[in-house]
Amino acid sequence: MNHFETICAQAGHAANGDDPAVTSHIQLSTTFHYFPTGDAPTGFVYSRENNPTRQHLEGILAQLEYGADAAAFGSGSAAAHAVFLSLKPGDHVIVNNDVYAGVRSMLKNVFIPWGLDVSFVDLSDHSNFQQAIKGNTRLVWSESPTNPQLNIIDLIALTNTSKQHGIKTAIDNTFATPVLQNPLVLGADLVMHSTTKFLGGHSDLTGGALITKEKNEWWEKLRFIQHIVGAIPSPFDCWLLTRGIRSLGPRMARHVENAKAIAEFLSHHKAIEKVIYPGLVSHPGYEIAKKQMKAPGAMVSFLVKGTKEDAIKMAQKVKVFTNATSLGGTESLLEHRKTAEGPDSPTPDNLIRLSVGLEDVKDLIDDLSQALMR
Ligand code: PLP
Repeated sequence: MNHFETICAQAGHAANGDDPAVTSHIQLSTTFHYFPTGDAPTGFVYSRENNPTRQHLEGILAQLEYGADAAAFGSGSAAAHAVFLSLKPGDHVIVNNDVYAGVRSMLKNVFIPWGLDVSFVDLSDHSNFQQAIKGNTRLVWSESPTNPQLNIIDLIALTNTSKQHGIKTAIDNTFATPVLQNPLVLGADLVMHSTTKFLGGHSDLTGGALITKEKNEWWEKLRFIQHIVGAIPSPFDCWLLTRGIRSLGPRMARHVENAKAIAEFLSHHKAIEKVIYPGLVSHPGYEIAKKQMKAPGAMVSFLVKGTKEDAIKMAQKVKVFTNATSLGGTESLLEHRKTAEGPDSPTPDNLIRLSVGLEDVKDLIDDLSQALMR
């Protein structure tokens, strides 16, 4: 198998005598010829079930996470939904307590009423996980780094304990990306991505993915849900995502370089109460992050000294950063997360989250500097 950067750069497509196109194809047809006997020699019958452009993308996604197979969805939320739907009412799930607000809302408003037993637990302390396990615990779902508090979960400890108790581990690897962290290699059973973010990389597509370590019964069920519920991405979005992945490696290198410089700058600023970035020695998860990630990522959160209003005032002053939600595009985004997440969010009132883009870092630092002036 080629190295990671080569897989990305070529995006699973190499021109040859039969197919001279250097970039991959897009197949819009929703339906494909097959025989009245039921034989479908190409493997394609109907696009919701399988489509050549989606299959091509899924092959790349599986390789990027060192998995056995991948399934693409219409959004990260649809991918998460498939995982929870694969369980049964009465099953217990342990979820990191500062999980992405949309997944929290999905669990509270869809799956808890459906019968799932959910515990939101601070997984950055491994003993909390051990204490939360019950006889009916079937799954642990965690991000690392978490959104937006950037807590680091020890994924090796988490997966080891899970295995001892026959619990499946699903890791939302959206913030880290497969460039910086590979949960399947660390012992997880399943990886989830919102491909809307760094994988797409240009803030112009919505998508999600699940990648499995093994093709087992659980994976068959997840595949069945993908096909039968039909929350699939369009061929065009699959194609755009495949194109985005071509530059994933170098993009992440630059994202991280800029994020490190910004975190360093903010950590010396007198208008800041605290900088939260796993690449700073002051971060409680610094050592674990160093062990399980190749680099600390491109998301930086910080607490503005003062109140919620002071943080919002600061956010309103930026000119190079854009006030917007989401992350992972070439452009830098800044968001007051509590406003985005609503009143039941555990996010501190004065927390600002940055998705650090690919701009000249001097412009980004100057912008933050003028916005933090009181
Ligand atoms: N997971 C994380 C960590 C996210 O930040 C998001 C979205 O912001 C999602 C999942 C959901 O992804 P999507 O918006 O593609 O449904």
